[in-house]
Amino acid sequence: MYGIYIHIPFCVRKCPYCDFYSVAVEDELRKRFLSALKNEILSFGPVDADTIYLGGGTPSLLKPQEISDILEILRSHNRLSDDIEISMECNPASVTKSELKEFRSAGINRLSIGCQSFQQDLLAHLGRLHSAEESKRTVYDAQESGFSNISVDIMLGIPYATVETTKKDAEVAASLGIQHVSAYLLKICEGTPFAAGVPGVPSDDEQADCYRAFCEVMDASSLYQYEISNFALPGFECKHNLKYWNCGEWQGFGPAAHMSNGEKRFSFPNDLSSFLASFESEIPSHPTSSFTIEGTVDAEEYIIMGLRKSSGISRADLRNKFNRSFSKEQEKFLLECQKHGLVDLDKDTVRLTREGFLLSNSILSEIME
Ligand code: SF4
Repeated sequence: MYGIYIHIPFCVRKCPYCDFYSVAVEDELRKRFLSALKNEILSFGPVDADTIYLGGGTPSLLKPQEISDILEILRSHNRLSDDIEISMECNPASVTKSELKEFRSAGINRLSIGCQSFQQDLLAHLGRLHSAEESKRTVYDAQESGFSNISVDIMLGIPYATVETTKKDAEVAASLGIQHVSAYLLKICEGTPFAAGVPGVPSDDEQADCYRAFCEVMDASSLYQYEISNFALPGFECKHNLKYWNCGEWQGFGPAAHMSNGEKRFSFPNDLSSFLASFESEIPSHPTSSFTIEGTVDAEEYIIMGLRKSSGISRADLRNKFNRSFSKEQEKFLLECQKHGLVDLDKDTVRLTREGFLLSNSILSEIME
């Protein structure tokens, strides 16, 4: 079963830490993008799909009718399962309650809200456009608009964040009656204003303490950790993102979108102009000619992605799918990691512990060597 990802490349204003591809939203550009997007969707063969994810950018900057039109094209062109998960990202204060009701009526059944923090000073340090009150207000508005599958994004390691502020954000998130929380550590990305220097960023050790503190608050709630950065009520794990972590298949549309047919991964350049040039005037018969081949879905990718999950990877799957098992040296290294409490091993499974998640980059690079 495929997933379908659509990248909506518009934001009100660029956040100073963000390296996701987006441009300032403008009426004319939005309309041209939507017509090119329709052609791109129609240029690919129909698939059986059970997830759709509208990410960005800020998809909620599109009008509810425009989202409804995109979903209609997807429905008429593909075979979508009856219980399909349809997620949309939105930002606090970028969407009204009446729009949320319309998005829900259009078919969006999972909302991912970019709250990042519930503390005003931290939001200001992060350069976000919304207030702490608006972070909560949007969650309540979504609940009152009929959404019963809501995820909130929290950022860890914000400038001037401490273990105490992190616990506070985790406690507010856990108290909102939502079904899912994503908590990513702030990454300073090249080419962003933050890369030129930002005061108050916690050290690596302080960030690790914030991560542990966040996880501990989640442990005491009903949201369990199912991935290095994701927590959910049982049954509310993000089906779409699990396709990435399980090396599944998905189509990706829009500039900067990635896709995978289960064997190879492709991406479209981070460039709205070349997206318009490729798809605005016609439905191309060879749409992948404008894509770049990113790599092959192989054992290495399966290990890297799979070890993000709390359930880890299955040795049998590694053998059956890729004809691979860990070498003697790798097993020796994994046993050493187990002694230090970084890895849990048994005859069927390899998984990282929470302390292992904190050192996942080093562990993975050692395994890959
Ligand atoms: S709203 Fe989201 S996608 Fe847009 S610039 Fe900010 S962090 Fe990036």
